[in-house]
Amino acid sequence: MLGTMMQFPLTLAPILERTGRLFGAVEIVSRLPDKSIHRSNYAGVCGRARALAAALAAGGVGRGDRIATLMWNHVWHLEAYFGVPVSGSVLHMLNLRLHPDELAYIVNHAGDRVLLVDDVLLPVYEKLRGRVNLERVIVVPTTGQGLPPEYENYEDFLKQGAAGYEAPQLDENEAAAMCYTSGTTGVPKGVIYSHRSLVLHSFCEALPDYFGLSQSDCVLPIVPMFHANAWGCPYAAGMLGAKQVLPGPNLDAIGLLDLLEQEKVTRSAGVPTIWMGILAALDQHPGRWKLQPGLRVLSGGSALPESLLRGFDRHAIEIRQAWGMTEMSPIGTVCTVKSSLSEMSEGERMAVRTKQGTQVPFVEIRAMVGEREVPWDGETMGELHVRGPWIAASYYNLPDQQGRWTADGWFRTGDVVTIDREGYVKIADRAKDLIKSGGEWISSVDLENALMDHPAVREAAVIAIPHPKWAERPLAAVVLKDGHDATPEELRSHLARKFNRWQLPDAIVFVPEIPRTSVGKFQKSRLREMFADWEWEPTAEAAVKS
Ligand code: ADP
Repeated sequence: MLGTMMQFPLTLAPILERTGRLFGAVEIVSRLPDKSIHRSNYAGVCGRARALAAALAAGGVGRGDRIATLMWNHVWHLEAYFGVPVSGSVLHMLNLRLHPDELAYIVNHAGDRVLLVDDVLLPVYEKLRGRVNLERVIVVPTTGQGLPPEYENYEDFLKQGAAGYEAPQLDENEAAAMCYTSGTTGVPKGVIYSHRSLVLHSFCEALPDYFGLSQSDCVLPIVPMFHANAWGCPYAAGMLGAKQVLPGPNLDAIGLLDLLEQEKVTRSAGVPTIWMGILAALDQHPGRWKLQPGLRVLSGGSALPESLLRGFDRHAIEIRQAWGMTEMSPIGTVCTVKSSLSEMSEGERMAVRTKQGTQVPFVEIRAMVGEREVPWDGETMGELHVRGPWIAASYYNLPDQQGRWTADGWFRTGDVVTIDREGYVKIADRAKDLIKSGGEWISSVDLENALMDHPAVREAAVIAIPHPKWAERPLAAVVLKDGHDATPEELRSHLARKFNRWQLPDAIVFVPEIPRTSVGKFQKSRLREMFADWEWEPTAEAAVKS
């Protein structure tokens, strides 16, 4: 027997229409490249997103056509986030920090027809020009300066739609947006989000236990809108009609703190690197910023070090860890401490909060070794598999799907985890970053977090180096804080409080900086290249070089 409910497609159009009508006056604040503030509102975004859809239709761009964006976080990108999918075309956010070769590959592989590009990012586009098959390049003026005459102006383009344009009725499974994984693991792979997956992801993200969004919130996504839907913030905040603050290209800690204070931000999202910078600024300038009580920030993309959690606790800012992937729209788990654990000691609570969290509703998880599921005992490691309504079922147009899906329909994340009795997932490593020493596994993430707990350490990344006897042994690359000093021996003693001797890095090397990926994660592949010639001292089992 079927239910008697309507078959109402879950698409982005009703979100845009409702928010435009009910919350038209709610502000969308953009910080421009020159750091000046631009103010718009949902009425403006709704009207202009419709105009964008109409102009695309008038320009012969149709259902399923890919429209690329090369843009920072600002209101024009938000217009594209809604206007492009509502028209039936597909918003393809391009990661502007990628190498031009990689970007050209991605544009061609996706078959992008049109590019919307910020005026300040024209130099990035110029490097692709001649190598990509775009029919139209439309430039968004984000500075007061005029555009080079050979380019089409976005403002003029918006006027080209027909007055009575009606957006098409879309199926909820049609493509709405796409994004390529940033390629820390092999060739860039395209993921296509459907209207349905984006709508459901927005509902889930907004729930009180996760991002906890309400209409009265003010949301500042620091995570770029060119990466994994800015973790869904623009859509979730847009669905509720919450104020959005979009920071543009300047992501320095002082400027972000000014923005958090001035715009009375209550929710923000970014990678640990951003939060580390913000914590350092808060520590350096006590009392300088009056942030909103109840400010909650999500940290994801890489592991949240305990030192960062403690630092944010000190400043009474709530920081929660989330884990996800481009393939997952991106949210898979969020770390919220359950009410049944409220009696825990402070130490136990901290141990839970440093985990990546529990699966959000409709995301199913299992940890596997080969064909066998490992127990949820908090100790046994296995590869995390996931499935759910906003998890990719395949990569776009890729003959070799790289063995990422199991025969029974799960996505292999490539992350090696433990899951405890309460269901909290802890990422030990990416499979390829685990250190396999003498038949045992050492988690580089655990060592990094413990190193970053040391007062003199700003950043640390641990990699495996081949070893003649043990197969692999850990090497730690460490960046010291300005004005601080520490010796490798000191750092090893610090680690020895938490780890067994065989788990300690055999080498601790001080470096000026740790190479990063385009989205601010440690780039371990680059680090491995830097230490490719490393040789262990033949005599000492635990030699320490510096
Ligand atoms: P890429 O695969 O190109 O790095 P993604 O942004 O999709 O791009 O990265 C997803 C990966 O980032 C996950 O598989 C995981 O390894 C890592 N990751 C994401 N969030 C966390 C987190 N909170 N803690 C540890 N690792 C994380």
